[in-house]
Amino acid sequence: MKKIIETFSPEETFRLGEELAKNAVPGQVYTLIGDLGVGKTVLTQGMAAGLDIDEPVNSPTFTIVQVYEEGRMPFYHFDVYRIGDVEEMDEIGYEDYFYGEGLCLIEWANLIEEILPDNYTEITIRKDLQKGLDYREITIEEMTK
Ligand code: ADP
Ligand code: MG
Repeated sequence: MKKIIETFSPEETFRLGEELAKNAVPGQVYTLIGDLGVGKTVLTQGMAAGLDIDEPVNSPTFTIVQVYEEGRMPFYHFDVYRIGDVEEMDEIGYEDYFYGEGLCLIEWANLIEEILPDNYTEITIRKDLQKGLDYREITIEEMTK
């Protein structure tokens, strides 16, 4: 199933993240794709808010995964951009997160495609400058390997 949502402000993208997290079930895996500055962090912050996480959520710059335990369920925020080899995922014990009791969000998931679970939800954010600076097209697609 594929759904396309259009947003016209950062607040709308934040609210979409919030809504996705409110409806999320433990063990759910989301991947997040989009160019720099497209709104991945905005959406991620919305998701954290939707899980009732109060601490600030930014990009996990120095670690592959940032874990937030204080919300309705654990939130595992991955950014695998700097990963050299998929083996690094084994080293951090990724399976405990992917097949755990929390919500996983994986930025740059295309770099670790071979270890993604059989079912996950792919979120893609795109700009379309012809529709304005603040316009974003957000595609949400259920993926089955
Ligand atoms: P990324 O994490 O993808 O690099 P950020 O979320 O850090 O991007 O930044 C997105 C930027 O785009 C922010 O400055 C935000 O205010 C702006 N922006 C403008 N319109 C939107 C929109 N519709 N959705 C999300 N962000 C938007
Ligand atoms: Mg970001």
